[in-house]
Amino acid sequence: MSVDTGVRRQYTVCALHRARGVFEVLGVAHEGGPGGRWVRKLAVGDVVALFGPKADLDARTAGAQTLVLLGDETALGLYEAVNRLRRGSASIRGALEHGAAVNLQTCELPVLAGLGLFPRDEDRPGAALHHWIREQDIHTPQTVFFVNGHGAAVRSLRLALISMGVRGVAIRSRAFWGRA
Ligand SMILES: Cc1cc2nc3c(=O)[nH]c(=O)nc-3n(C[C@H](O)[C@H](O)[C@H](O)COP(=O)(O)OP(=O)(O)OC[C@H]3O[C@@H](n4cnc5c(N)ncnc54)[C@H](O)[C@@H]3O)c2cc1C
Repeated sequence: MSVDTGVRRQYTVCALHRARGVFEVLGVAHEGGPGGRWVRKLAVGDVVALFGPKADLDARTAGAQTLVLLGDETALGLYEAVNRLRRGSASIRGALEHGAAVNLQTCELPVLAGLGLFPRDEDRPGAALHHWIREQDIHTPQTVFFVNGHGAAVRSLRLALISMGVRGVAIRSRAFWGRA
């Protein structure tokens, strides 16, 4: 999306309704950034400038029996898309870190029912997710891991999973944001 003059931010297509020519994104309205400001001021009827779509992270997981989702609020659109593709045919669980200003308790997205929700320690993004994977039995075959959100958290979680014996091909990781 073009969120300001000359400024672009990427958003994940959460759902696509081809017949109606409609798609959904779930944008987080963070303080302080152009993407957040754009999300806050959007109103029904606004015209938005798009670029893409760009193939990025593959959300298809046919054959996987278990999906583990590890990320933050910026990955919720992706996780809801994954959930819509596989709910009923895969076990979906995971953990989500969120900033203090993000209230997920009143959010009714179906994917949230399977996720542990943890406030983010802004000095140590990913710390709650590291704790969560250490507490889980994640050594199940045919599991696909999605690791998304804060860049440093994504990198360290990927390494932690590999050190726990998870194969790299089973991890779909992508950094979505980082500190300026
Ligand atoms: C492939 C891809 C897909 C993405 N999909 C989505 C999506 O579906 N929905 C979505 O909301 N975002 C998504 N993002 C992230 C999005 O593009 C923005 O980078 C992000 O929302 C922050 O943009 P911003 O302009 O508000 O902040 P930035 O200008 O990037 O940052 C400004 C300030 O805000 C802070 N900040 C930024 N993000 C956070 C945060 N999560 N928590 C606390 N502080 C933060 C930064 O530390 C910085 O100080 C995606 C990114 C990629 C690469």
